[in-house]
Amino acid sequence: MASQLVQAVAAVVVLQCISASWVGAWAGSAQAEGGDEVHWDYSGGSHGPGGWGDLKAEWGVCKSGSRQSPIAITALDLVTDRSLGKLDAKYRKRVHATLYNSGHGAEVSMPAGSGRLRIGGETYRPVQFHIHMPSEHTIMNQSFPLELHLVHKSDDGKLAVIGFLFEEGGESEFLAQFAHEVPSSNSPGVKVDLGHIKMMKPERNYGTYMGSLTTPPCAEGVTWILSLFNFQTASAEQLAKLRASVPKGHNNRPTFGSAGRGFRMRTNA
Ligand SMILES: [Zn+2]
Repeated sequence: MASQLVQAVAAVVVLQCISASWVGAWAGSAQAEGGDEVHWDYSGGSHGPGGWGDLKAEWGVCKSGSRQSPIAITALDLVTDRSLGKLDAKYRKRVHATLYNSGHGAEVSMPAGSGRLRIGGETYRPVQFHIHMPSEHTIMNQSFPLELHLVHKSDDGKLAVIGFLFEEGGESEFLAQFAHEVPSSNSPGVKVDLGHIKMMKPERNYGTYMGSLTTPPCAEGVTWILSLFNFQTASAEQLAKLRASVPKGHNNRPTFGSAGRGFRMRTNA
């Protein structure tokens, strides 16, 4: 399944080529995903994704925004961009990590100085990662059982998120570092000191688009980075354990169209 998808993506990429350059402007608040006293969830009701924009004045962009995330990435969105270099992300070999349940699923925070990501002329520091099940982004209408978001913040509050898509398969060494001990979503105050853990290694071949936080306040101006190649794998057991930490077993916001934003992909050429 994955190799067919890669071939389809590659075929489209070589057919399209533009050189684009722009500067993403951060216009929203710098609040990280999750963590607010107003109750929101992933139900089909008024507190679910369809109602987030009405729950709080500051969350209006969840409803009215034009650059929202996640997106359904289609062949029409893919453009190669020769100005994109290798993904410039460097992390410490091991970072001191703290695990907790945000109330919406597993989240792991790390101290400042755990590494850095450079993209679009900005430098960002990793601050936390968390999981969504199933994936929030879809590629050619394909959903994945898990998407991990590694959230980075710049000194002036801009955000960049690397999304890692997981297929079901072999056990993930990375997820094995915490999947078995995620506190319940009913205990958001419980923190687990994981000691020093190994970080995910992002793929050097990646694509990027400008979007938003996928949770309230849905602030826009977020640089998204996703790899459409070499997906991660997680075992059925790991997926089941992590799913048990997500209320009602799913925490994915429905997708938006790219609305002409495009998904700019790095090319080796
Ligand atoms: Zn997320």
